[in-house]
Amino acid sequence: MTLIDPPAAADARAEIPIGGNLDEADAITLAKQLDSRLRDLPTLDERIAVIAEFIPGRIAFSSSLGIEDQAITHAIATQEARIDVFTLDTGRHFPETLETLFETEGRYGIKIRVVFPDATEVENLVAEDGIMGFRYSVEARKACCEVRKVRPLNRALAGASAWITGLRREQSQGRAEVPFASYDASQKLIKLNPIADWSLRTLEDYVSANKVPVNPLHAKGFPSIGCQPCTRAIRPGEDIRAGRWWWENENAKECGLHARNDKGSRA
Ligand code: SF4
Repeated sequence: MTLIDPPAAADARAEIPIGGNLDEADAITLAKQLDSRLRDLPTLDERIAVIAEFIPGRIAFSSSLGIEDQAITHAIATQEARIDVFTLDTGRHFPETLETLFETEGRYGIKIRVVFPDATEVENLVAEDGIMGFRYSVEARKACCEVRKVRPLNRALAGASAWITGLRREQSQGRAEVPFASYDASQKLIKLNPIADWSLRTLEDYVSANKVPVNPLHAKGFPSIGCQPCTRAIRPGEDIRAGRWWWENENAKECGLHARNDKGSRA
């Protein structure tokens, strides 16, 4: 399948170092090129195809199994794109989330790699803070996210050239300027957000048209689904991430997976 016109592809290949580990300067350059290229491509399939074509080495996709990530999994799986799809099992998921994982593997005939936290680290955390310790302070909550999410994510991303996420600008104020591609200096890889510009309507239309399996909690007032004890349904008019760590103030509401330390983006 030809996704970009041959002269443009040839030009891009001449500029982009393919087939080896990228050093930081090359990765920043490639991120800038991809940010511009992805912006010009109208469909998710085309964006995924270009990512798979131009990024050398392992491309990792961390799926939360939420609706955004399910759309991306659909595009990856139906094109059989060479992308490593994994999910983090924090041990505190809703049963519906695990059912969504099971259904997705069956629908697409794929295996999604499940990455778990270190058992000893979880035991120590719970021994120190208690089974619901994350409710006591922002620090305790961040410590839990660190052990159950951030460290497993870092392990899963180690050695990858690029990391695909389902971030959308519309999701929150903090994500309003998310680029399509940037160099993530903390992870030392290219971070790609192929549906950064999608509205909720665009996303729902895509999922509906392609009969993508989605977590049934979305239909019950959960636009953003994280761990069960840290996620509630939202009320009409509330921000779509209002149900995450609802007892905290807005500014603290990221789990550390998407700390901004990006270069080479237009945003
Ligand atoms: S979302 Fe809640 S339960 Fe899940 S890792 Fe973070 S603090 Fe822990």
